[in-house]
Amino acid sequence: MSCSNKIVTGEELIQIKPNVTQQLKKEKRLVKYSSKPNPIKNILLINIPRLTIRQLNDEFQSTLSLGTQSKPTVKTHYEIYPPLGLLYLSSMFKEKNNVDLQIFDMHLNCIQMLQKNTIVNWKKVVDDAIKKYKPDLVGISSMFGASFEGTKFVGETIKKHYKDIIVVCGGVHMTGLANNNDENLKFADFICLNESEYHFLWLVEYLNNEKDTLTGVVVNNKTLLRNEADLIPGSHVVQDLDTLPIPDFGSIDLKNYYKYGILSGAQTIDYDTPLATMQTVRGCIARCSFCAVRSFNGLGVRMHSSKRVLEEIDLLYNKFGIRHVDFVDDDFTYDRQRVMEITDSIIDRDYNFTWSIGNGVRLGSLDEEMLKNMEKSGCTYLSFGIESGDDEILRQMKKPLTLEILREKVKLLDICPKIYYRANFITGYPGETKEQLQKTMDVAEKYPWDWNLFSICKPLPDTDLWNELLENNADFEGVGNNTDQDYNYSSYEGKVFNDAGDEYIFNTSYDFNLKSNFKNNKNLNGRNVVRAVKDFERIVVKVENHAFAWNCLAIGYKKLKQYEKSEHALENTMEIIKKNSFWRKKFIEHEFLIDDTSCTLPISK
Ligand code: SF4
Repeated sequence: MSCSNKIVTGEELIQIKPNVTQQLKKEKRLVKYSSKPNPIKNILLINIPRLTIRQLNDEFQSTLSLGTQSKPTVKTHYEIYPPLGLLYLSSMFKEKNNVDLQIFDMHLNCIQMLQKNTIVNWKKVVDDAIKKYKPDLVGISSMFGASFEGTKFVGETIKKHYKDIIVVCGGVHMTGLANNNDENLKFADFICLNESEYHFLWLVEYLNNEKDTLTGVVVNNKTLLRNEADLIPGSHVVQDLDTLPIPDFGSIDLKNYYKYGILSGAQTIDYDTPLATMQTVRGCIARCSFCAVRSFNGLGVRMHSSKRVLEEIDLLYNKFGIRHVDFVDDDFTYDRQRVMEITDSIIDRDYNFTWSIGNGVRLGSLDEEMLKNMEKSGCTYLSFGIESGDDEILRQMKKPLTLEILREKVKLLDICPKIYYRANFITGYPGETKEQLQKTMDVAEKYPWDWNLFSICKPLPDTDLWNELLENNADFEGVGNNTDQDYNYSSYEGKVFNDAGDEYIFNTSYDFNLKSNFKNNKNLNGRNVVRAVKDFERIVVKVENHAFAWNCLAIGYKKLKQYEKSEHALENTMEIIKKNSFWRKKFIEHEFLIDDTSCTLPISK
C-alpha cells in the first residue's frame, strides 16, 4: 500500500466509501483471512519515555559517582505531563463494553524508578507491563523524535517475545516517518496516521470484525488484513472538535502527576501546583517550513468552542483538583472572540487557577485588550516562535512575522509584566549566513523577553524543510534529539544543515545563550530579580555544574539581600571554574565577572 498521507475530510470519506464497499462485496467472496487474529479484548496504550535509556541511566550513574542519592529524587529535574493524546483515545472506548483499555505511562514509571534510586531496565519494564495488563493489542504513542528509540525498543521487544500481541504505533513523529516510507518502522503491525481518535477505534473494530474497512493507517502486517481493498487511503479529520468526548482524565492518576516532575523547563508556577494539559485547537493558520503541524493536523484550524473549553476546565478544577493548565495548542489565539470568551469566563469564575501556553503563540495575533484579559485571567507564561532576526530568513521559513510586526507587537509585553515571556529562536537554518545569525542575537538582546531559547535547526520528518533537503539529497543520519541545549551544551548530539559547519553553529548558539540569558539577563540587571533567581535556581537543579547560573545566583541573592545564599553560590562558582576548563574559558571569553562588585577575574587562563 501507499504511505502517502492525503488528508481528507469526513465528507470526502463518505463519498469514497460506497465505491469501495461495492468493490469489497465482490472481492470478499474470493479472499479469506491470511491469519485470523484473536479478538481484541484488552488494549494497553503506552506513553513512551522522552529520554533515551542512556540518558535515563546516565542520571542514575551520575548520582552514584556523586556519592549522593539526592539528585534523581529532585522532582524539578524531570519534565512530566499527562499523556493527553492517549486520554483522547481512551475516551473513544468508554462506550465499548467488549474492550478494556488501560494506559501505562512508561515515561512516568521510569522517572519514578530513578526517584527510588532504581536503575531502569526497559526490557523488564516492558515484561512487567505485559504480565500485569495481559494485552491483546499494544498502542504506542511516539510524539517526538526523542521518544523514537523507546518506541522502537518497546515495539521490537513485544514482537520478539510476545508474538500474538498486535503492535500499533501513532503520534506526530511516527506519522512523519511513515509518510517518508521510513524502513525502521517494521516493528509495528499498524501505524495510525495523524489525529487518530477514529483511526484507532476503527482499526480495533476492524480487527474485531465489527467493521469492514479501515482508514488512516499504514499496514505493515498484511496478514491482518482480510482484504487488500479493506484499506481506504487518506485520513479522517474531525471537523467539529466538540463532537469528540472529553479526554478520559480519570484513566490515569492525574491528581498526582505534579508530584514527580514539572511541566517544562520554563515552569513559572510553584512546583507543588497540581497541573494538567489541554488541547483546545488543532492546526495552525501558518505553514512554517520546519513545523510538523500542517502535515499532522492538515490545513486550517479547528477549535473547541469556548463553552467546551470551560467545561473541561471546570471538570479539571472541581473533580481533579487541577490548579494550572498548559494549553498545548499551536494557534490558541486564532479566533480572538473565542479567546475573549474563554478569558472572560475564567475571570468570572474567580478560581484559584492559572494557565500558560508553552507551545507558542503567534505574536502578530495579540492586541492590548486580549493580552490584558489573558493576564487578568491567570496567564503566567507565553512562548513565542520568533525564530530569526532577519526578514529574508523569516520569509524563507514562511513565518507569519516580519521585523516590523515584531517591533510593534513587542511593545505590548511591557503592559502585562506578570506574564513570563520566552522567545524561541532557530539557529543554523539552511542557507542562513553568519551575519543573518548575528541579527537573531540582536533581536534576542534588544527586546524584553524573560528568556531566549536557541534551538539548532533540526528538520522534522515530512515537513517542507525536510522534503526540500531530501530533494537535495541531504543525509539525515545523526540528526539529534536534544532539547536542552540552552542549559547543557555538551549533551547536544545532532548535526546542522548549514554551510557555517556544526562547530560554528553549536558554539555560536551556546554563546548566544550564555550572553543573553546569563551575562546580560535583563531581570537580573534590575527588571525582576526574583524572577531571575527562580530561573537560575531551576537551572542549577538541572545542570548542577552550570557556573554561569551559579554566578548569576550569587549576584541575584546579593541583590535580594540573601547574603548567606549568595556566598554559597559564589563558592560553587569558584569551585566549578577551578576544576572545569570549559567554564574557565567561557568566563574569560565572555568577560563575565565573578561577582557584580568585582572588576577583574580572580582566575588565570
Ligand atoms: S506558527 Fe508555530 S505552530 Fe504555526 S506553523 Fe509556524 S511554527 Fe508551526
